[in-house]
Amino acid sequence: MKTNEVVRHSAETGGRRFSAHCDVAVIGAGPYGLSAGVHLKAKGIAVCVFGEPMEFWASKMPEGMLLRSPRVASSLSDPDRAFTLEAYEAASKKEPCAPVPLDTFVEYGRWFRHQLGSDHDPRTVLRVYRDGSEFRLSLRDGEEIRVKHVVVATGIGPFKKKPAAFQNLSPQQVMHCYEGREVRRFAGKRVVVIGAGQSALESAALLHEANAQVEVIVRESHVRWIGMHSWLHHMGPISSMLYSSHDVGPVGISRLVAYPKMVSHIPLKLRDRIRTRAVRPAGARWLPERLAQVKITTGRSVSRADGFGDEVALKLDDGSERRVDHVLLGTGYQVDISRYDFLPPELVRDVKQFDGYPKLASGFRSSVPGLHFIGATAARSFGPLLYFVAGTEFASRELVSHISKDRL
Ligand SMILES: Cc1cc2nc3c(=O)[nH]c(=O)nc-3n(C[C@H](O)[C@H](O)[C@H](O)COP(=O)(O)OP(=O)(O)OC[C@H]3O[C@@H](n4cnc5c(N)ncnc54)[C@H](O)[C@@H]3O)c2cc1C
Repeated sequence: MKTNEVVRHSAETGGRRFSAHCDVAVIGAGPYGLSAGVHLKAKGIAVCVFGEPMEFWASKMPEGMLLRSPRVASSLSDPDRAFTLEAYEAASKKEPCAPVPLDTFVEYGRWFRHQLGSDHDPRTVLRVYRDGSEFRLSLRDGEEIRVKHVVVATGIGPFKKKPAAFQNLSPQQVMHCYEGREVRRFAGKRVVVIGAGQSALESAALLHEANAQVEVIVRESHVRWIGMHSWLHHMGPISSMLYSSHDVGPVGISRLVAYPKMVSHIPLKLRDRIRTRAVRPAGARWLPERLAQVKITTGRSVSRADGFGDEVALKLDDGSERRVDHVLLGTGYQVDISRYDFLPPELVRDVKQFDGYPKLASGFRSSVPGLHFIGATAARSFGPLLYFVAGTEFASRELVSHISKDRL
C-alpha cells in the first residue's frame, strides 16, 4: 500500500486518529529528506516525507545569500541523476549562474519535490514514540501514523550556538545568522557580527550592502578565505587527484571525505580531526572584495554584553567597548539530538551517541532498530561530506540499500 493512500484512509481508534501502516517516514523535507524520499519511492518502498519543502533554506537563510558549494556539488540526489540543478534550470529556462543564488536553490528543491507527488506531506511531526518494534508518529493536526522505519533528516535548525556572553540579551538585541532572513531591516543600524565562518562573513557583506554600519569581531588572529589558489583547481587530472568535485576540505582531505564509507572505518579521534579540519571557519573567495569597506577586528572576543534600552553595550577582552543596536551571531552550531523536540528523552537515551551525535552503523542505523539519522547528525560517523548537499547521494543510496534488504 502506498503512503498517500495510508494517510488519506485514517480511522478513528480510541479517540486518536490513526492511519494505517506504512513502511518509512522521513522527517524533514530539506535536501536530505527529499533525496532519500525519492530514492525510497523509486525502490517501491511506501514512504512519506514530512515537512514544508526547503523550509530551512527558504525562511532561515539570509535574503540575497549565495551558495558556497560549487554548482557541481549543489544538486539533490535521485536514482537516475535526472533531477539535477542543471535539469531544473533547463526546465524553467533559467540562466545557469555561479555561485548559485539562494532563491534559485530553494525553487530547485521545491521543483525536485514534485517527484514525490502525494508521498510528501507538509505537516510537522510533533513526536516520535517507540511502539514495540515499530514507531508511532503524531502529526501537527493530531493524526498519528505507524511506521517501521523513521529517518530523521531535520538538519541543524535547533543546534544554534549562543556563547554565554550573550545570554542576557533579548531576541531583539541578539540574533543568530540563521534567523537573519530580512537583512534590509538593519539599514542605518549599528551591527556587530561575531564569527569568522561563511555565515558571519556573508551576513556582514549583506548588511553592509543594505547600508548597516557593520563591524565583524573574530576570535582568531586572521580570517581565512577558501579557494584563493583557484589555479589548483584548474590543472586537469592533477586537480582531480588533489580535490574531489564536492570541494569539501583542503588538498588531499577533500579526496578522502568524498568516500564516507571509508571515513566511517577511520578511528574516531582521527576522523574527528579530519572533520574539524575540513569545515574550519572560512569565507568564500568572492567575499573579501565585498567586505573591503567593513571593519574586521581579529584576535578579540566579547567578554560581556548588556542591553541598555535600545542599545547593546559590548565589552571586549582587550577592555575596549562598543555601543551598537544589534548583535548577529555567526557562531556556528553544535549537534545535539536531545534538542530535537520531536524525539522524547526516553528515545534519545536509547540512542548511543558521541557527545550529541548519534553513533551510526551502515544504512545510517542508530542503536535503536529502525531509527536512522542522515545529514549533519551523521557527520561524526561518516565524515564532513554529510554536512553538505553533496552528501545526499551517498546518504540516499546507503539508506535505501539497507532498508530494502530489511524488507526481504
Ligand atoms: C548559512 C548557511 C549556508 C550554507 N551553505 C551551504 C552551501 O552552500 N552548500 C551546502 O551544501 N550546504 C550549505 N549549508 C549546510 C546546509 O545546512 C546543508 O547542506 C543542508 O541544509 C542539509 O540538508 P538537510 O536536509 O539535512 O537539512 P535542512 O535543509 O535544514 O532541512 C531539514 C528540514 O527539516 C524540517 N524539519 C525540522 N523538524 C521537523 C519536524 N518535526 N517535522 C517536519 N519537518 C521538520 C525543517 O523545516 C527543514 O526544512 C549551509 C548552512 C548554513 C547555515
